[in-house]
Amino acid sequence: LLLGFKLKDENTKRWHMTRQREVILKVLKGLTSHPTADELFQLVRRELPHISLGTVYRNLDVLCEQGLVARLELGGAQRRYDAGMAPHHHARCVRCNRLTDVPLDAISVLNFNVDEVMGFRLQDYRLELLGVCADCRRDEQAQAVRQ
Ligand SMILES: [Zn+2]
Ligand SMILES: [Zn+2]
Repeated sequence: LLLGFKLKDENTKRWHMTRQREVILKVLKGLTSHPTADELFQLVRRELPHISLGTVYRNLDVLCEQGLVARLELGGAQRRYDAGMAPHHHARCVRCNRLTDVPLDAISVLNFNVDEVMGFRLQDYRLELLGVCADCRRDEQAQAVRQ
C-alpha cells in the first residue's frame, strides 16, 4: 500500500483497549496539529494526571501497531503522530512549522518509474510539501502594508 499508511491489521480486535490508551486516542483524534509525543502527553495529563511520558510512548507504539495511529517520519526534528487514518499528504509551513493535512485530490498523479529507471521496487512513499501557510502569508502581507 502506498501513501505511508499501513492497512489495519485483521488481528486488531484481539487487542484490549485500556483506559489510558482510549484517552490518548481520543485526544489525538480531536487534534489536527499532528502533535509530538511530548505535546500529546501535556494534553493527556489534564485527564490522567498520573500518566507518565513513557506510558504515552508505549501506548502510541501499540496504537501504531494496531493501525489506529500513524507515526509520521517526516522532516521535522521530532516524530509526530496522526490519528487521521484516511490516506492524505502533509504540508509543513517553514515559518510556523505547522503540519497540515493535504487531501489527495490537491495533488495530481505521481508517476514512480523507479523500477524501470533504477530497479528499485517501491513499497511506500512519504510526501511532505514545504512552504508558507495561509496564516503566515496573511501576517506577511499585513507587515508589508505597515512598512
Ligand atoms: Zn505558517
Ligand atoms: Zn495528517
